[in-house]
Amino acid sequence: MTPPAITRDRLRVAIQKSGRLADPARDLLASCGLTWRESRDKLFCYGESLPVDLLLVRDDDIPGLIADGVCDLGIVGRNVVVEYDLGRQAGGAPGALEEWRQLGWGTCRLDIAINDDERWAGAEQLAGKRIATSYPHTLGRWLSERGVEADIVTLSGSVEIAPRLGQADLICDLVSTGGTLAANNLKPVETLLHSEAVIAGPTHPLEDGRADIADMLLRRMDGALRLKETRLLMLRAGRDVLPEVLGKLPEGGEPTVLQVDGRDEVSVQVLCHNAVSWQRLEDLKRAGAHTLMVLPVEGMLP
Ligand code: ATP
Ligand code: ZN
Repeated sequence: MTPPAITRDRLRVAIQKSGRLADPARDLLASCGLTWRESRDKLFCYGESLPVDLLLVRDDDIPGLIADGVCDLGIVGRNVVVEYDLGRQAGGAPGALEEWRQLGWGTCRLDIAINDDERWAGAEQLAGKRIATSYPHTLGRWLSERGVEADIVTLSGSVEIAPRLGQADLICDLVSTGGTLAANNLKPVETLLHSEAVIAGPTHPLEDGRADIADMLLRRMDGALRLKETRLLMLRAGRDVLPEVLGKLPEGGEPTVLQVDGRDEVSVQVLCHNAVSWQRLEDLKRAGAHTLMVLPVEGMLP
């Protein structure tokens, strides 16, 4: 079904109401300068500083809201987006969603897990087995790509206890540390999908005033995401060892080299786009640097 043409001059973003993605999603939007007022029922937030409103929902509802044009963008796990679009495609409809940005947090994997004491010999071993999952379409695609026919048991939650309850022989579920699997005597053997939180949007560009608002929000988001990883590295070194020290600096911006008053010494500053490792600091120290400091960057206007 083609979504109805909706004209709006405010952008509507769907985020998870509560759960793993809820706080980081709000933090990200706040770091873009968005402030909001929450409705009494806590389902809707009216954007005060920008024409961007938030809809607080279950994460599973986010793809449908975007596909139907009720919301323009959503912050949701790739696992949910992929499952939704594969579900649509299974029903003969085209995919409706695209990842507009990858956010680098909320990372997890969709894994096949079997009993601890079983051996894993490959996907063929799954033929005829019952696999419990909340991701039937993603699992179905993976199995059919391998020509394996298995019985997919769709559960909406508590998938990891299905083998113990006799509902299934093994599971296909989200894993981050593996702790939950281990606690249920299961071990991961195959990864179907690497997931992280993404900005999901429609496959087509937004129309009317919303396109400009979305551009601005994404631009601010890109800045905020980049800044989060940016560090200022400062150090001191004798003039004689400066070439060696500069050679050991991480890739980043142009270093600024300042003469230290009354000494044969310089102070070096450089912006780094990633975390600076201990190994890197030790290499710099060996090259002759001292008084090394790594500082977070609060704001930047190039
Ligand atoms: P809702 O009530 O919104 O439906 P939920 O129980 O489906 O909540 P959460 O458990 O909060 O959702 O997980 C939300 C998302 O967090 C997942 O879809 C996934 O993208 C991501 N995630 C990261 N690590 C994990 C993990 N270990 N287990 C489950 N989800 C994870
Ligand atoms: Zn959910």
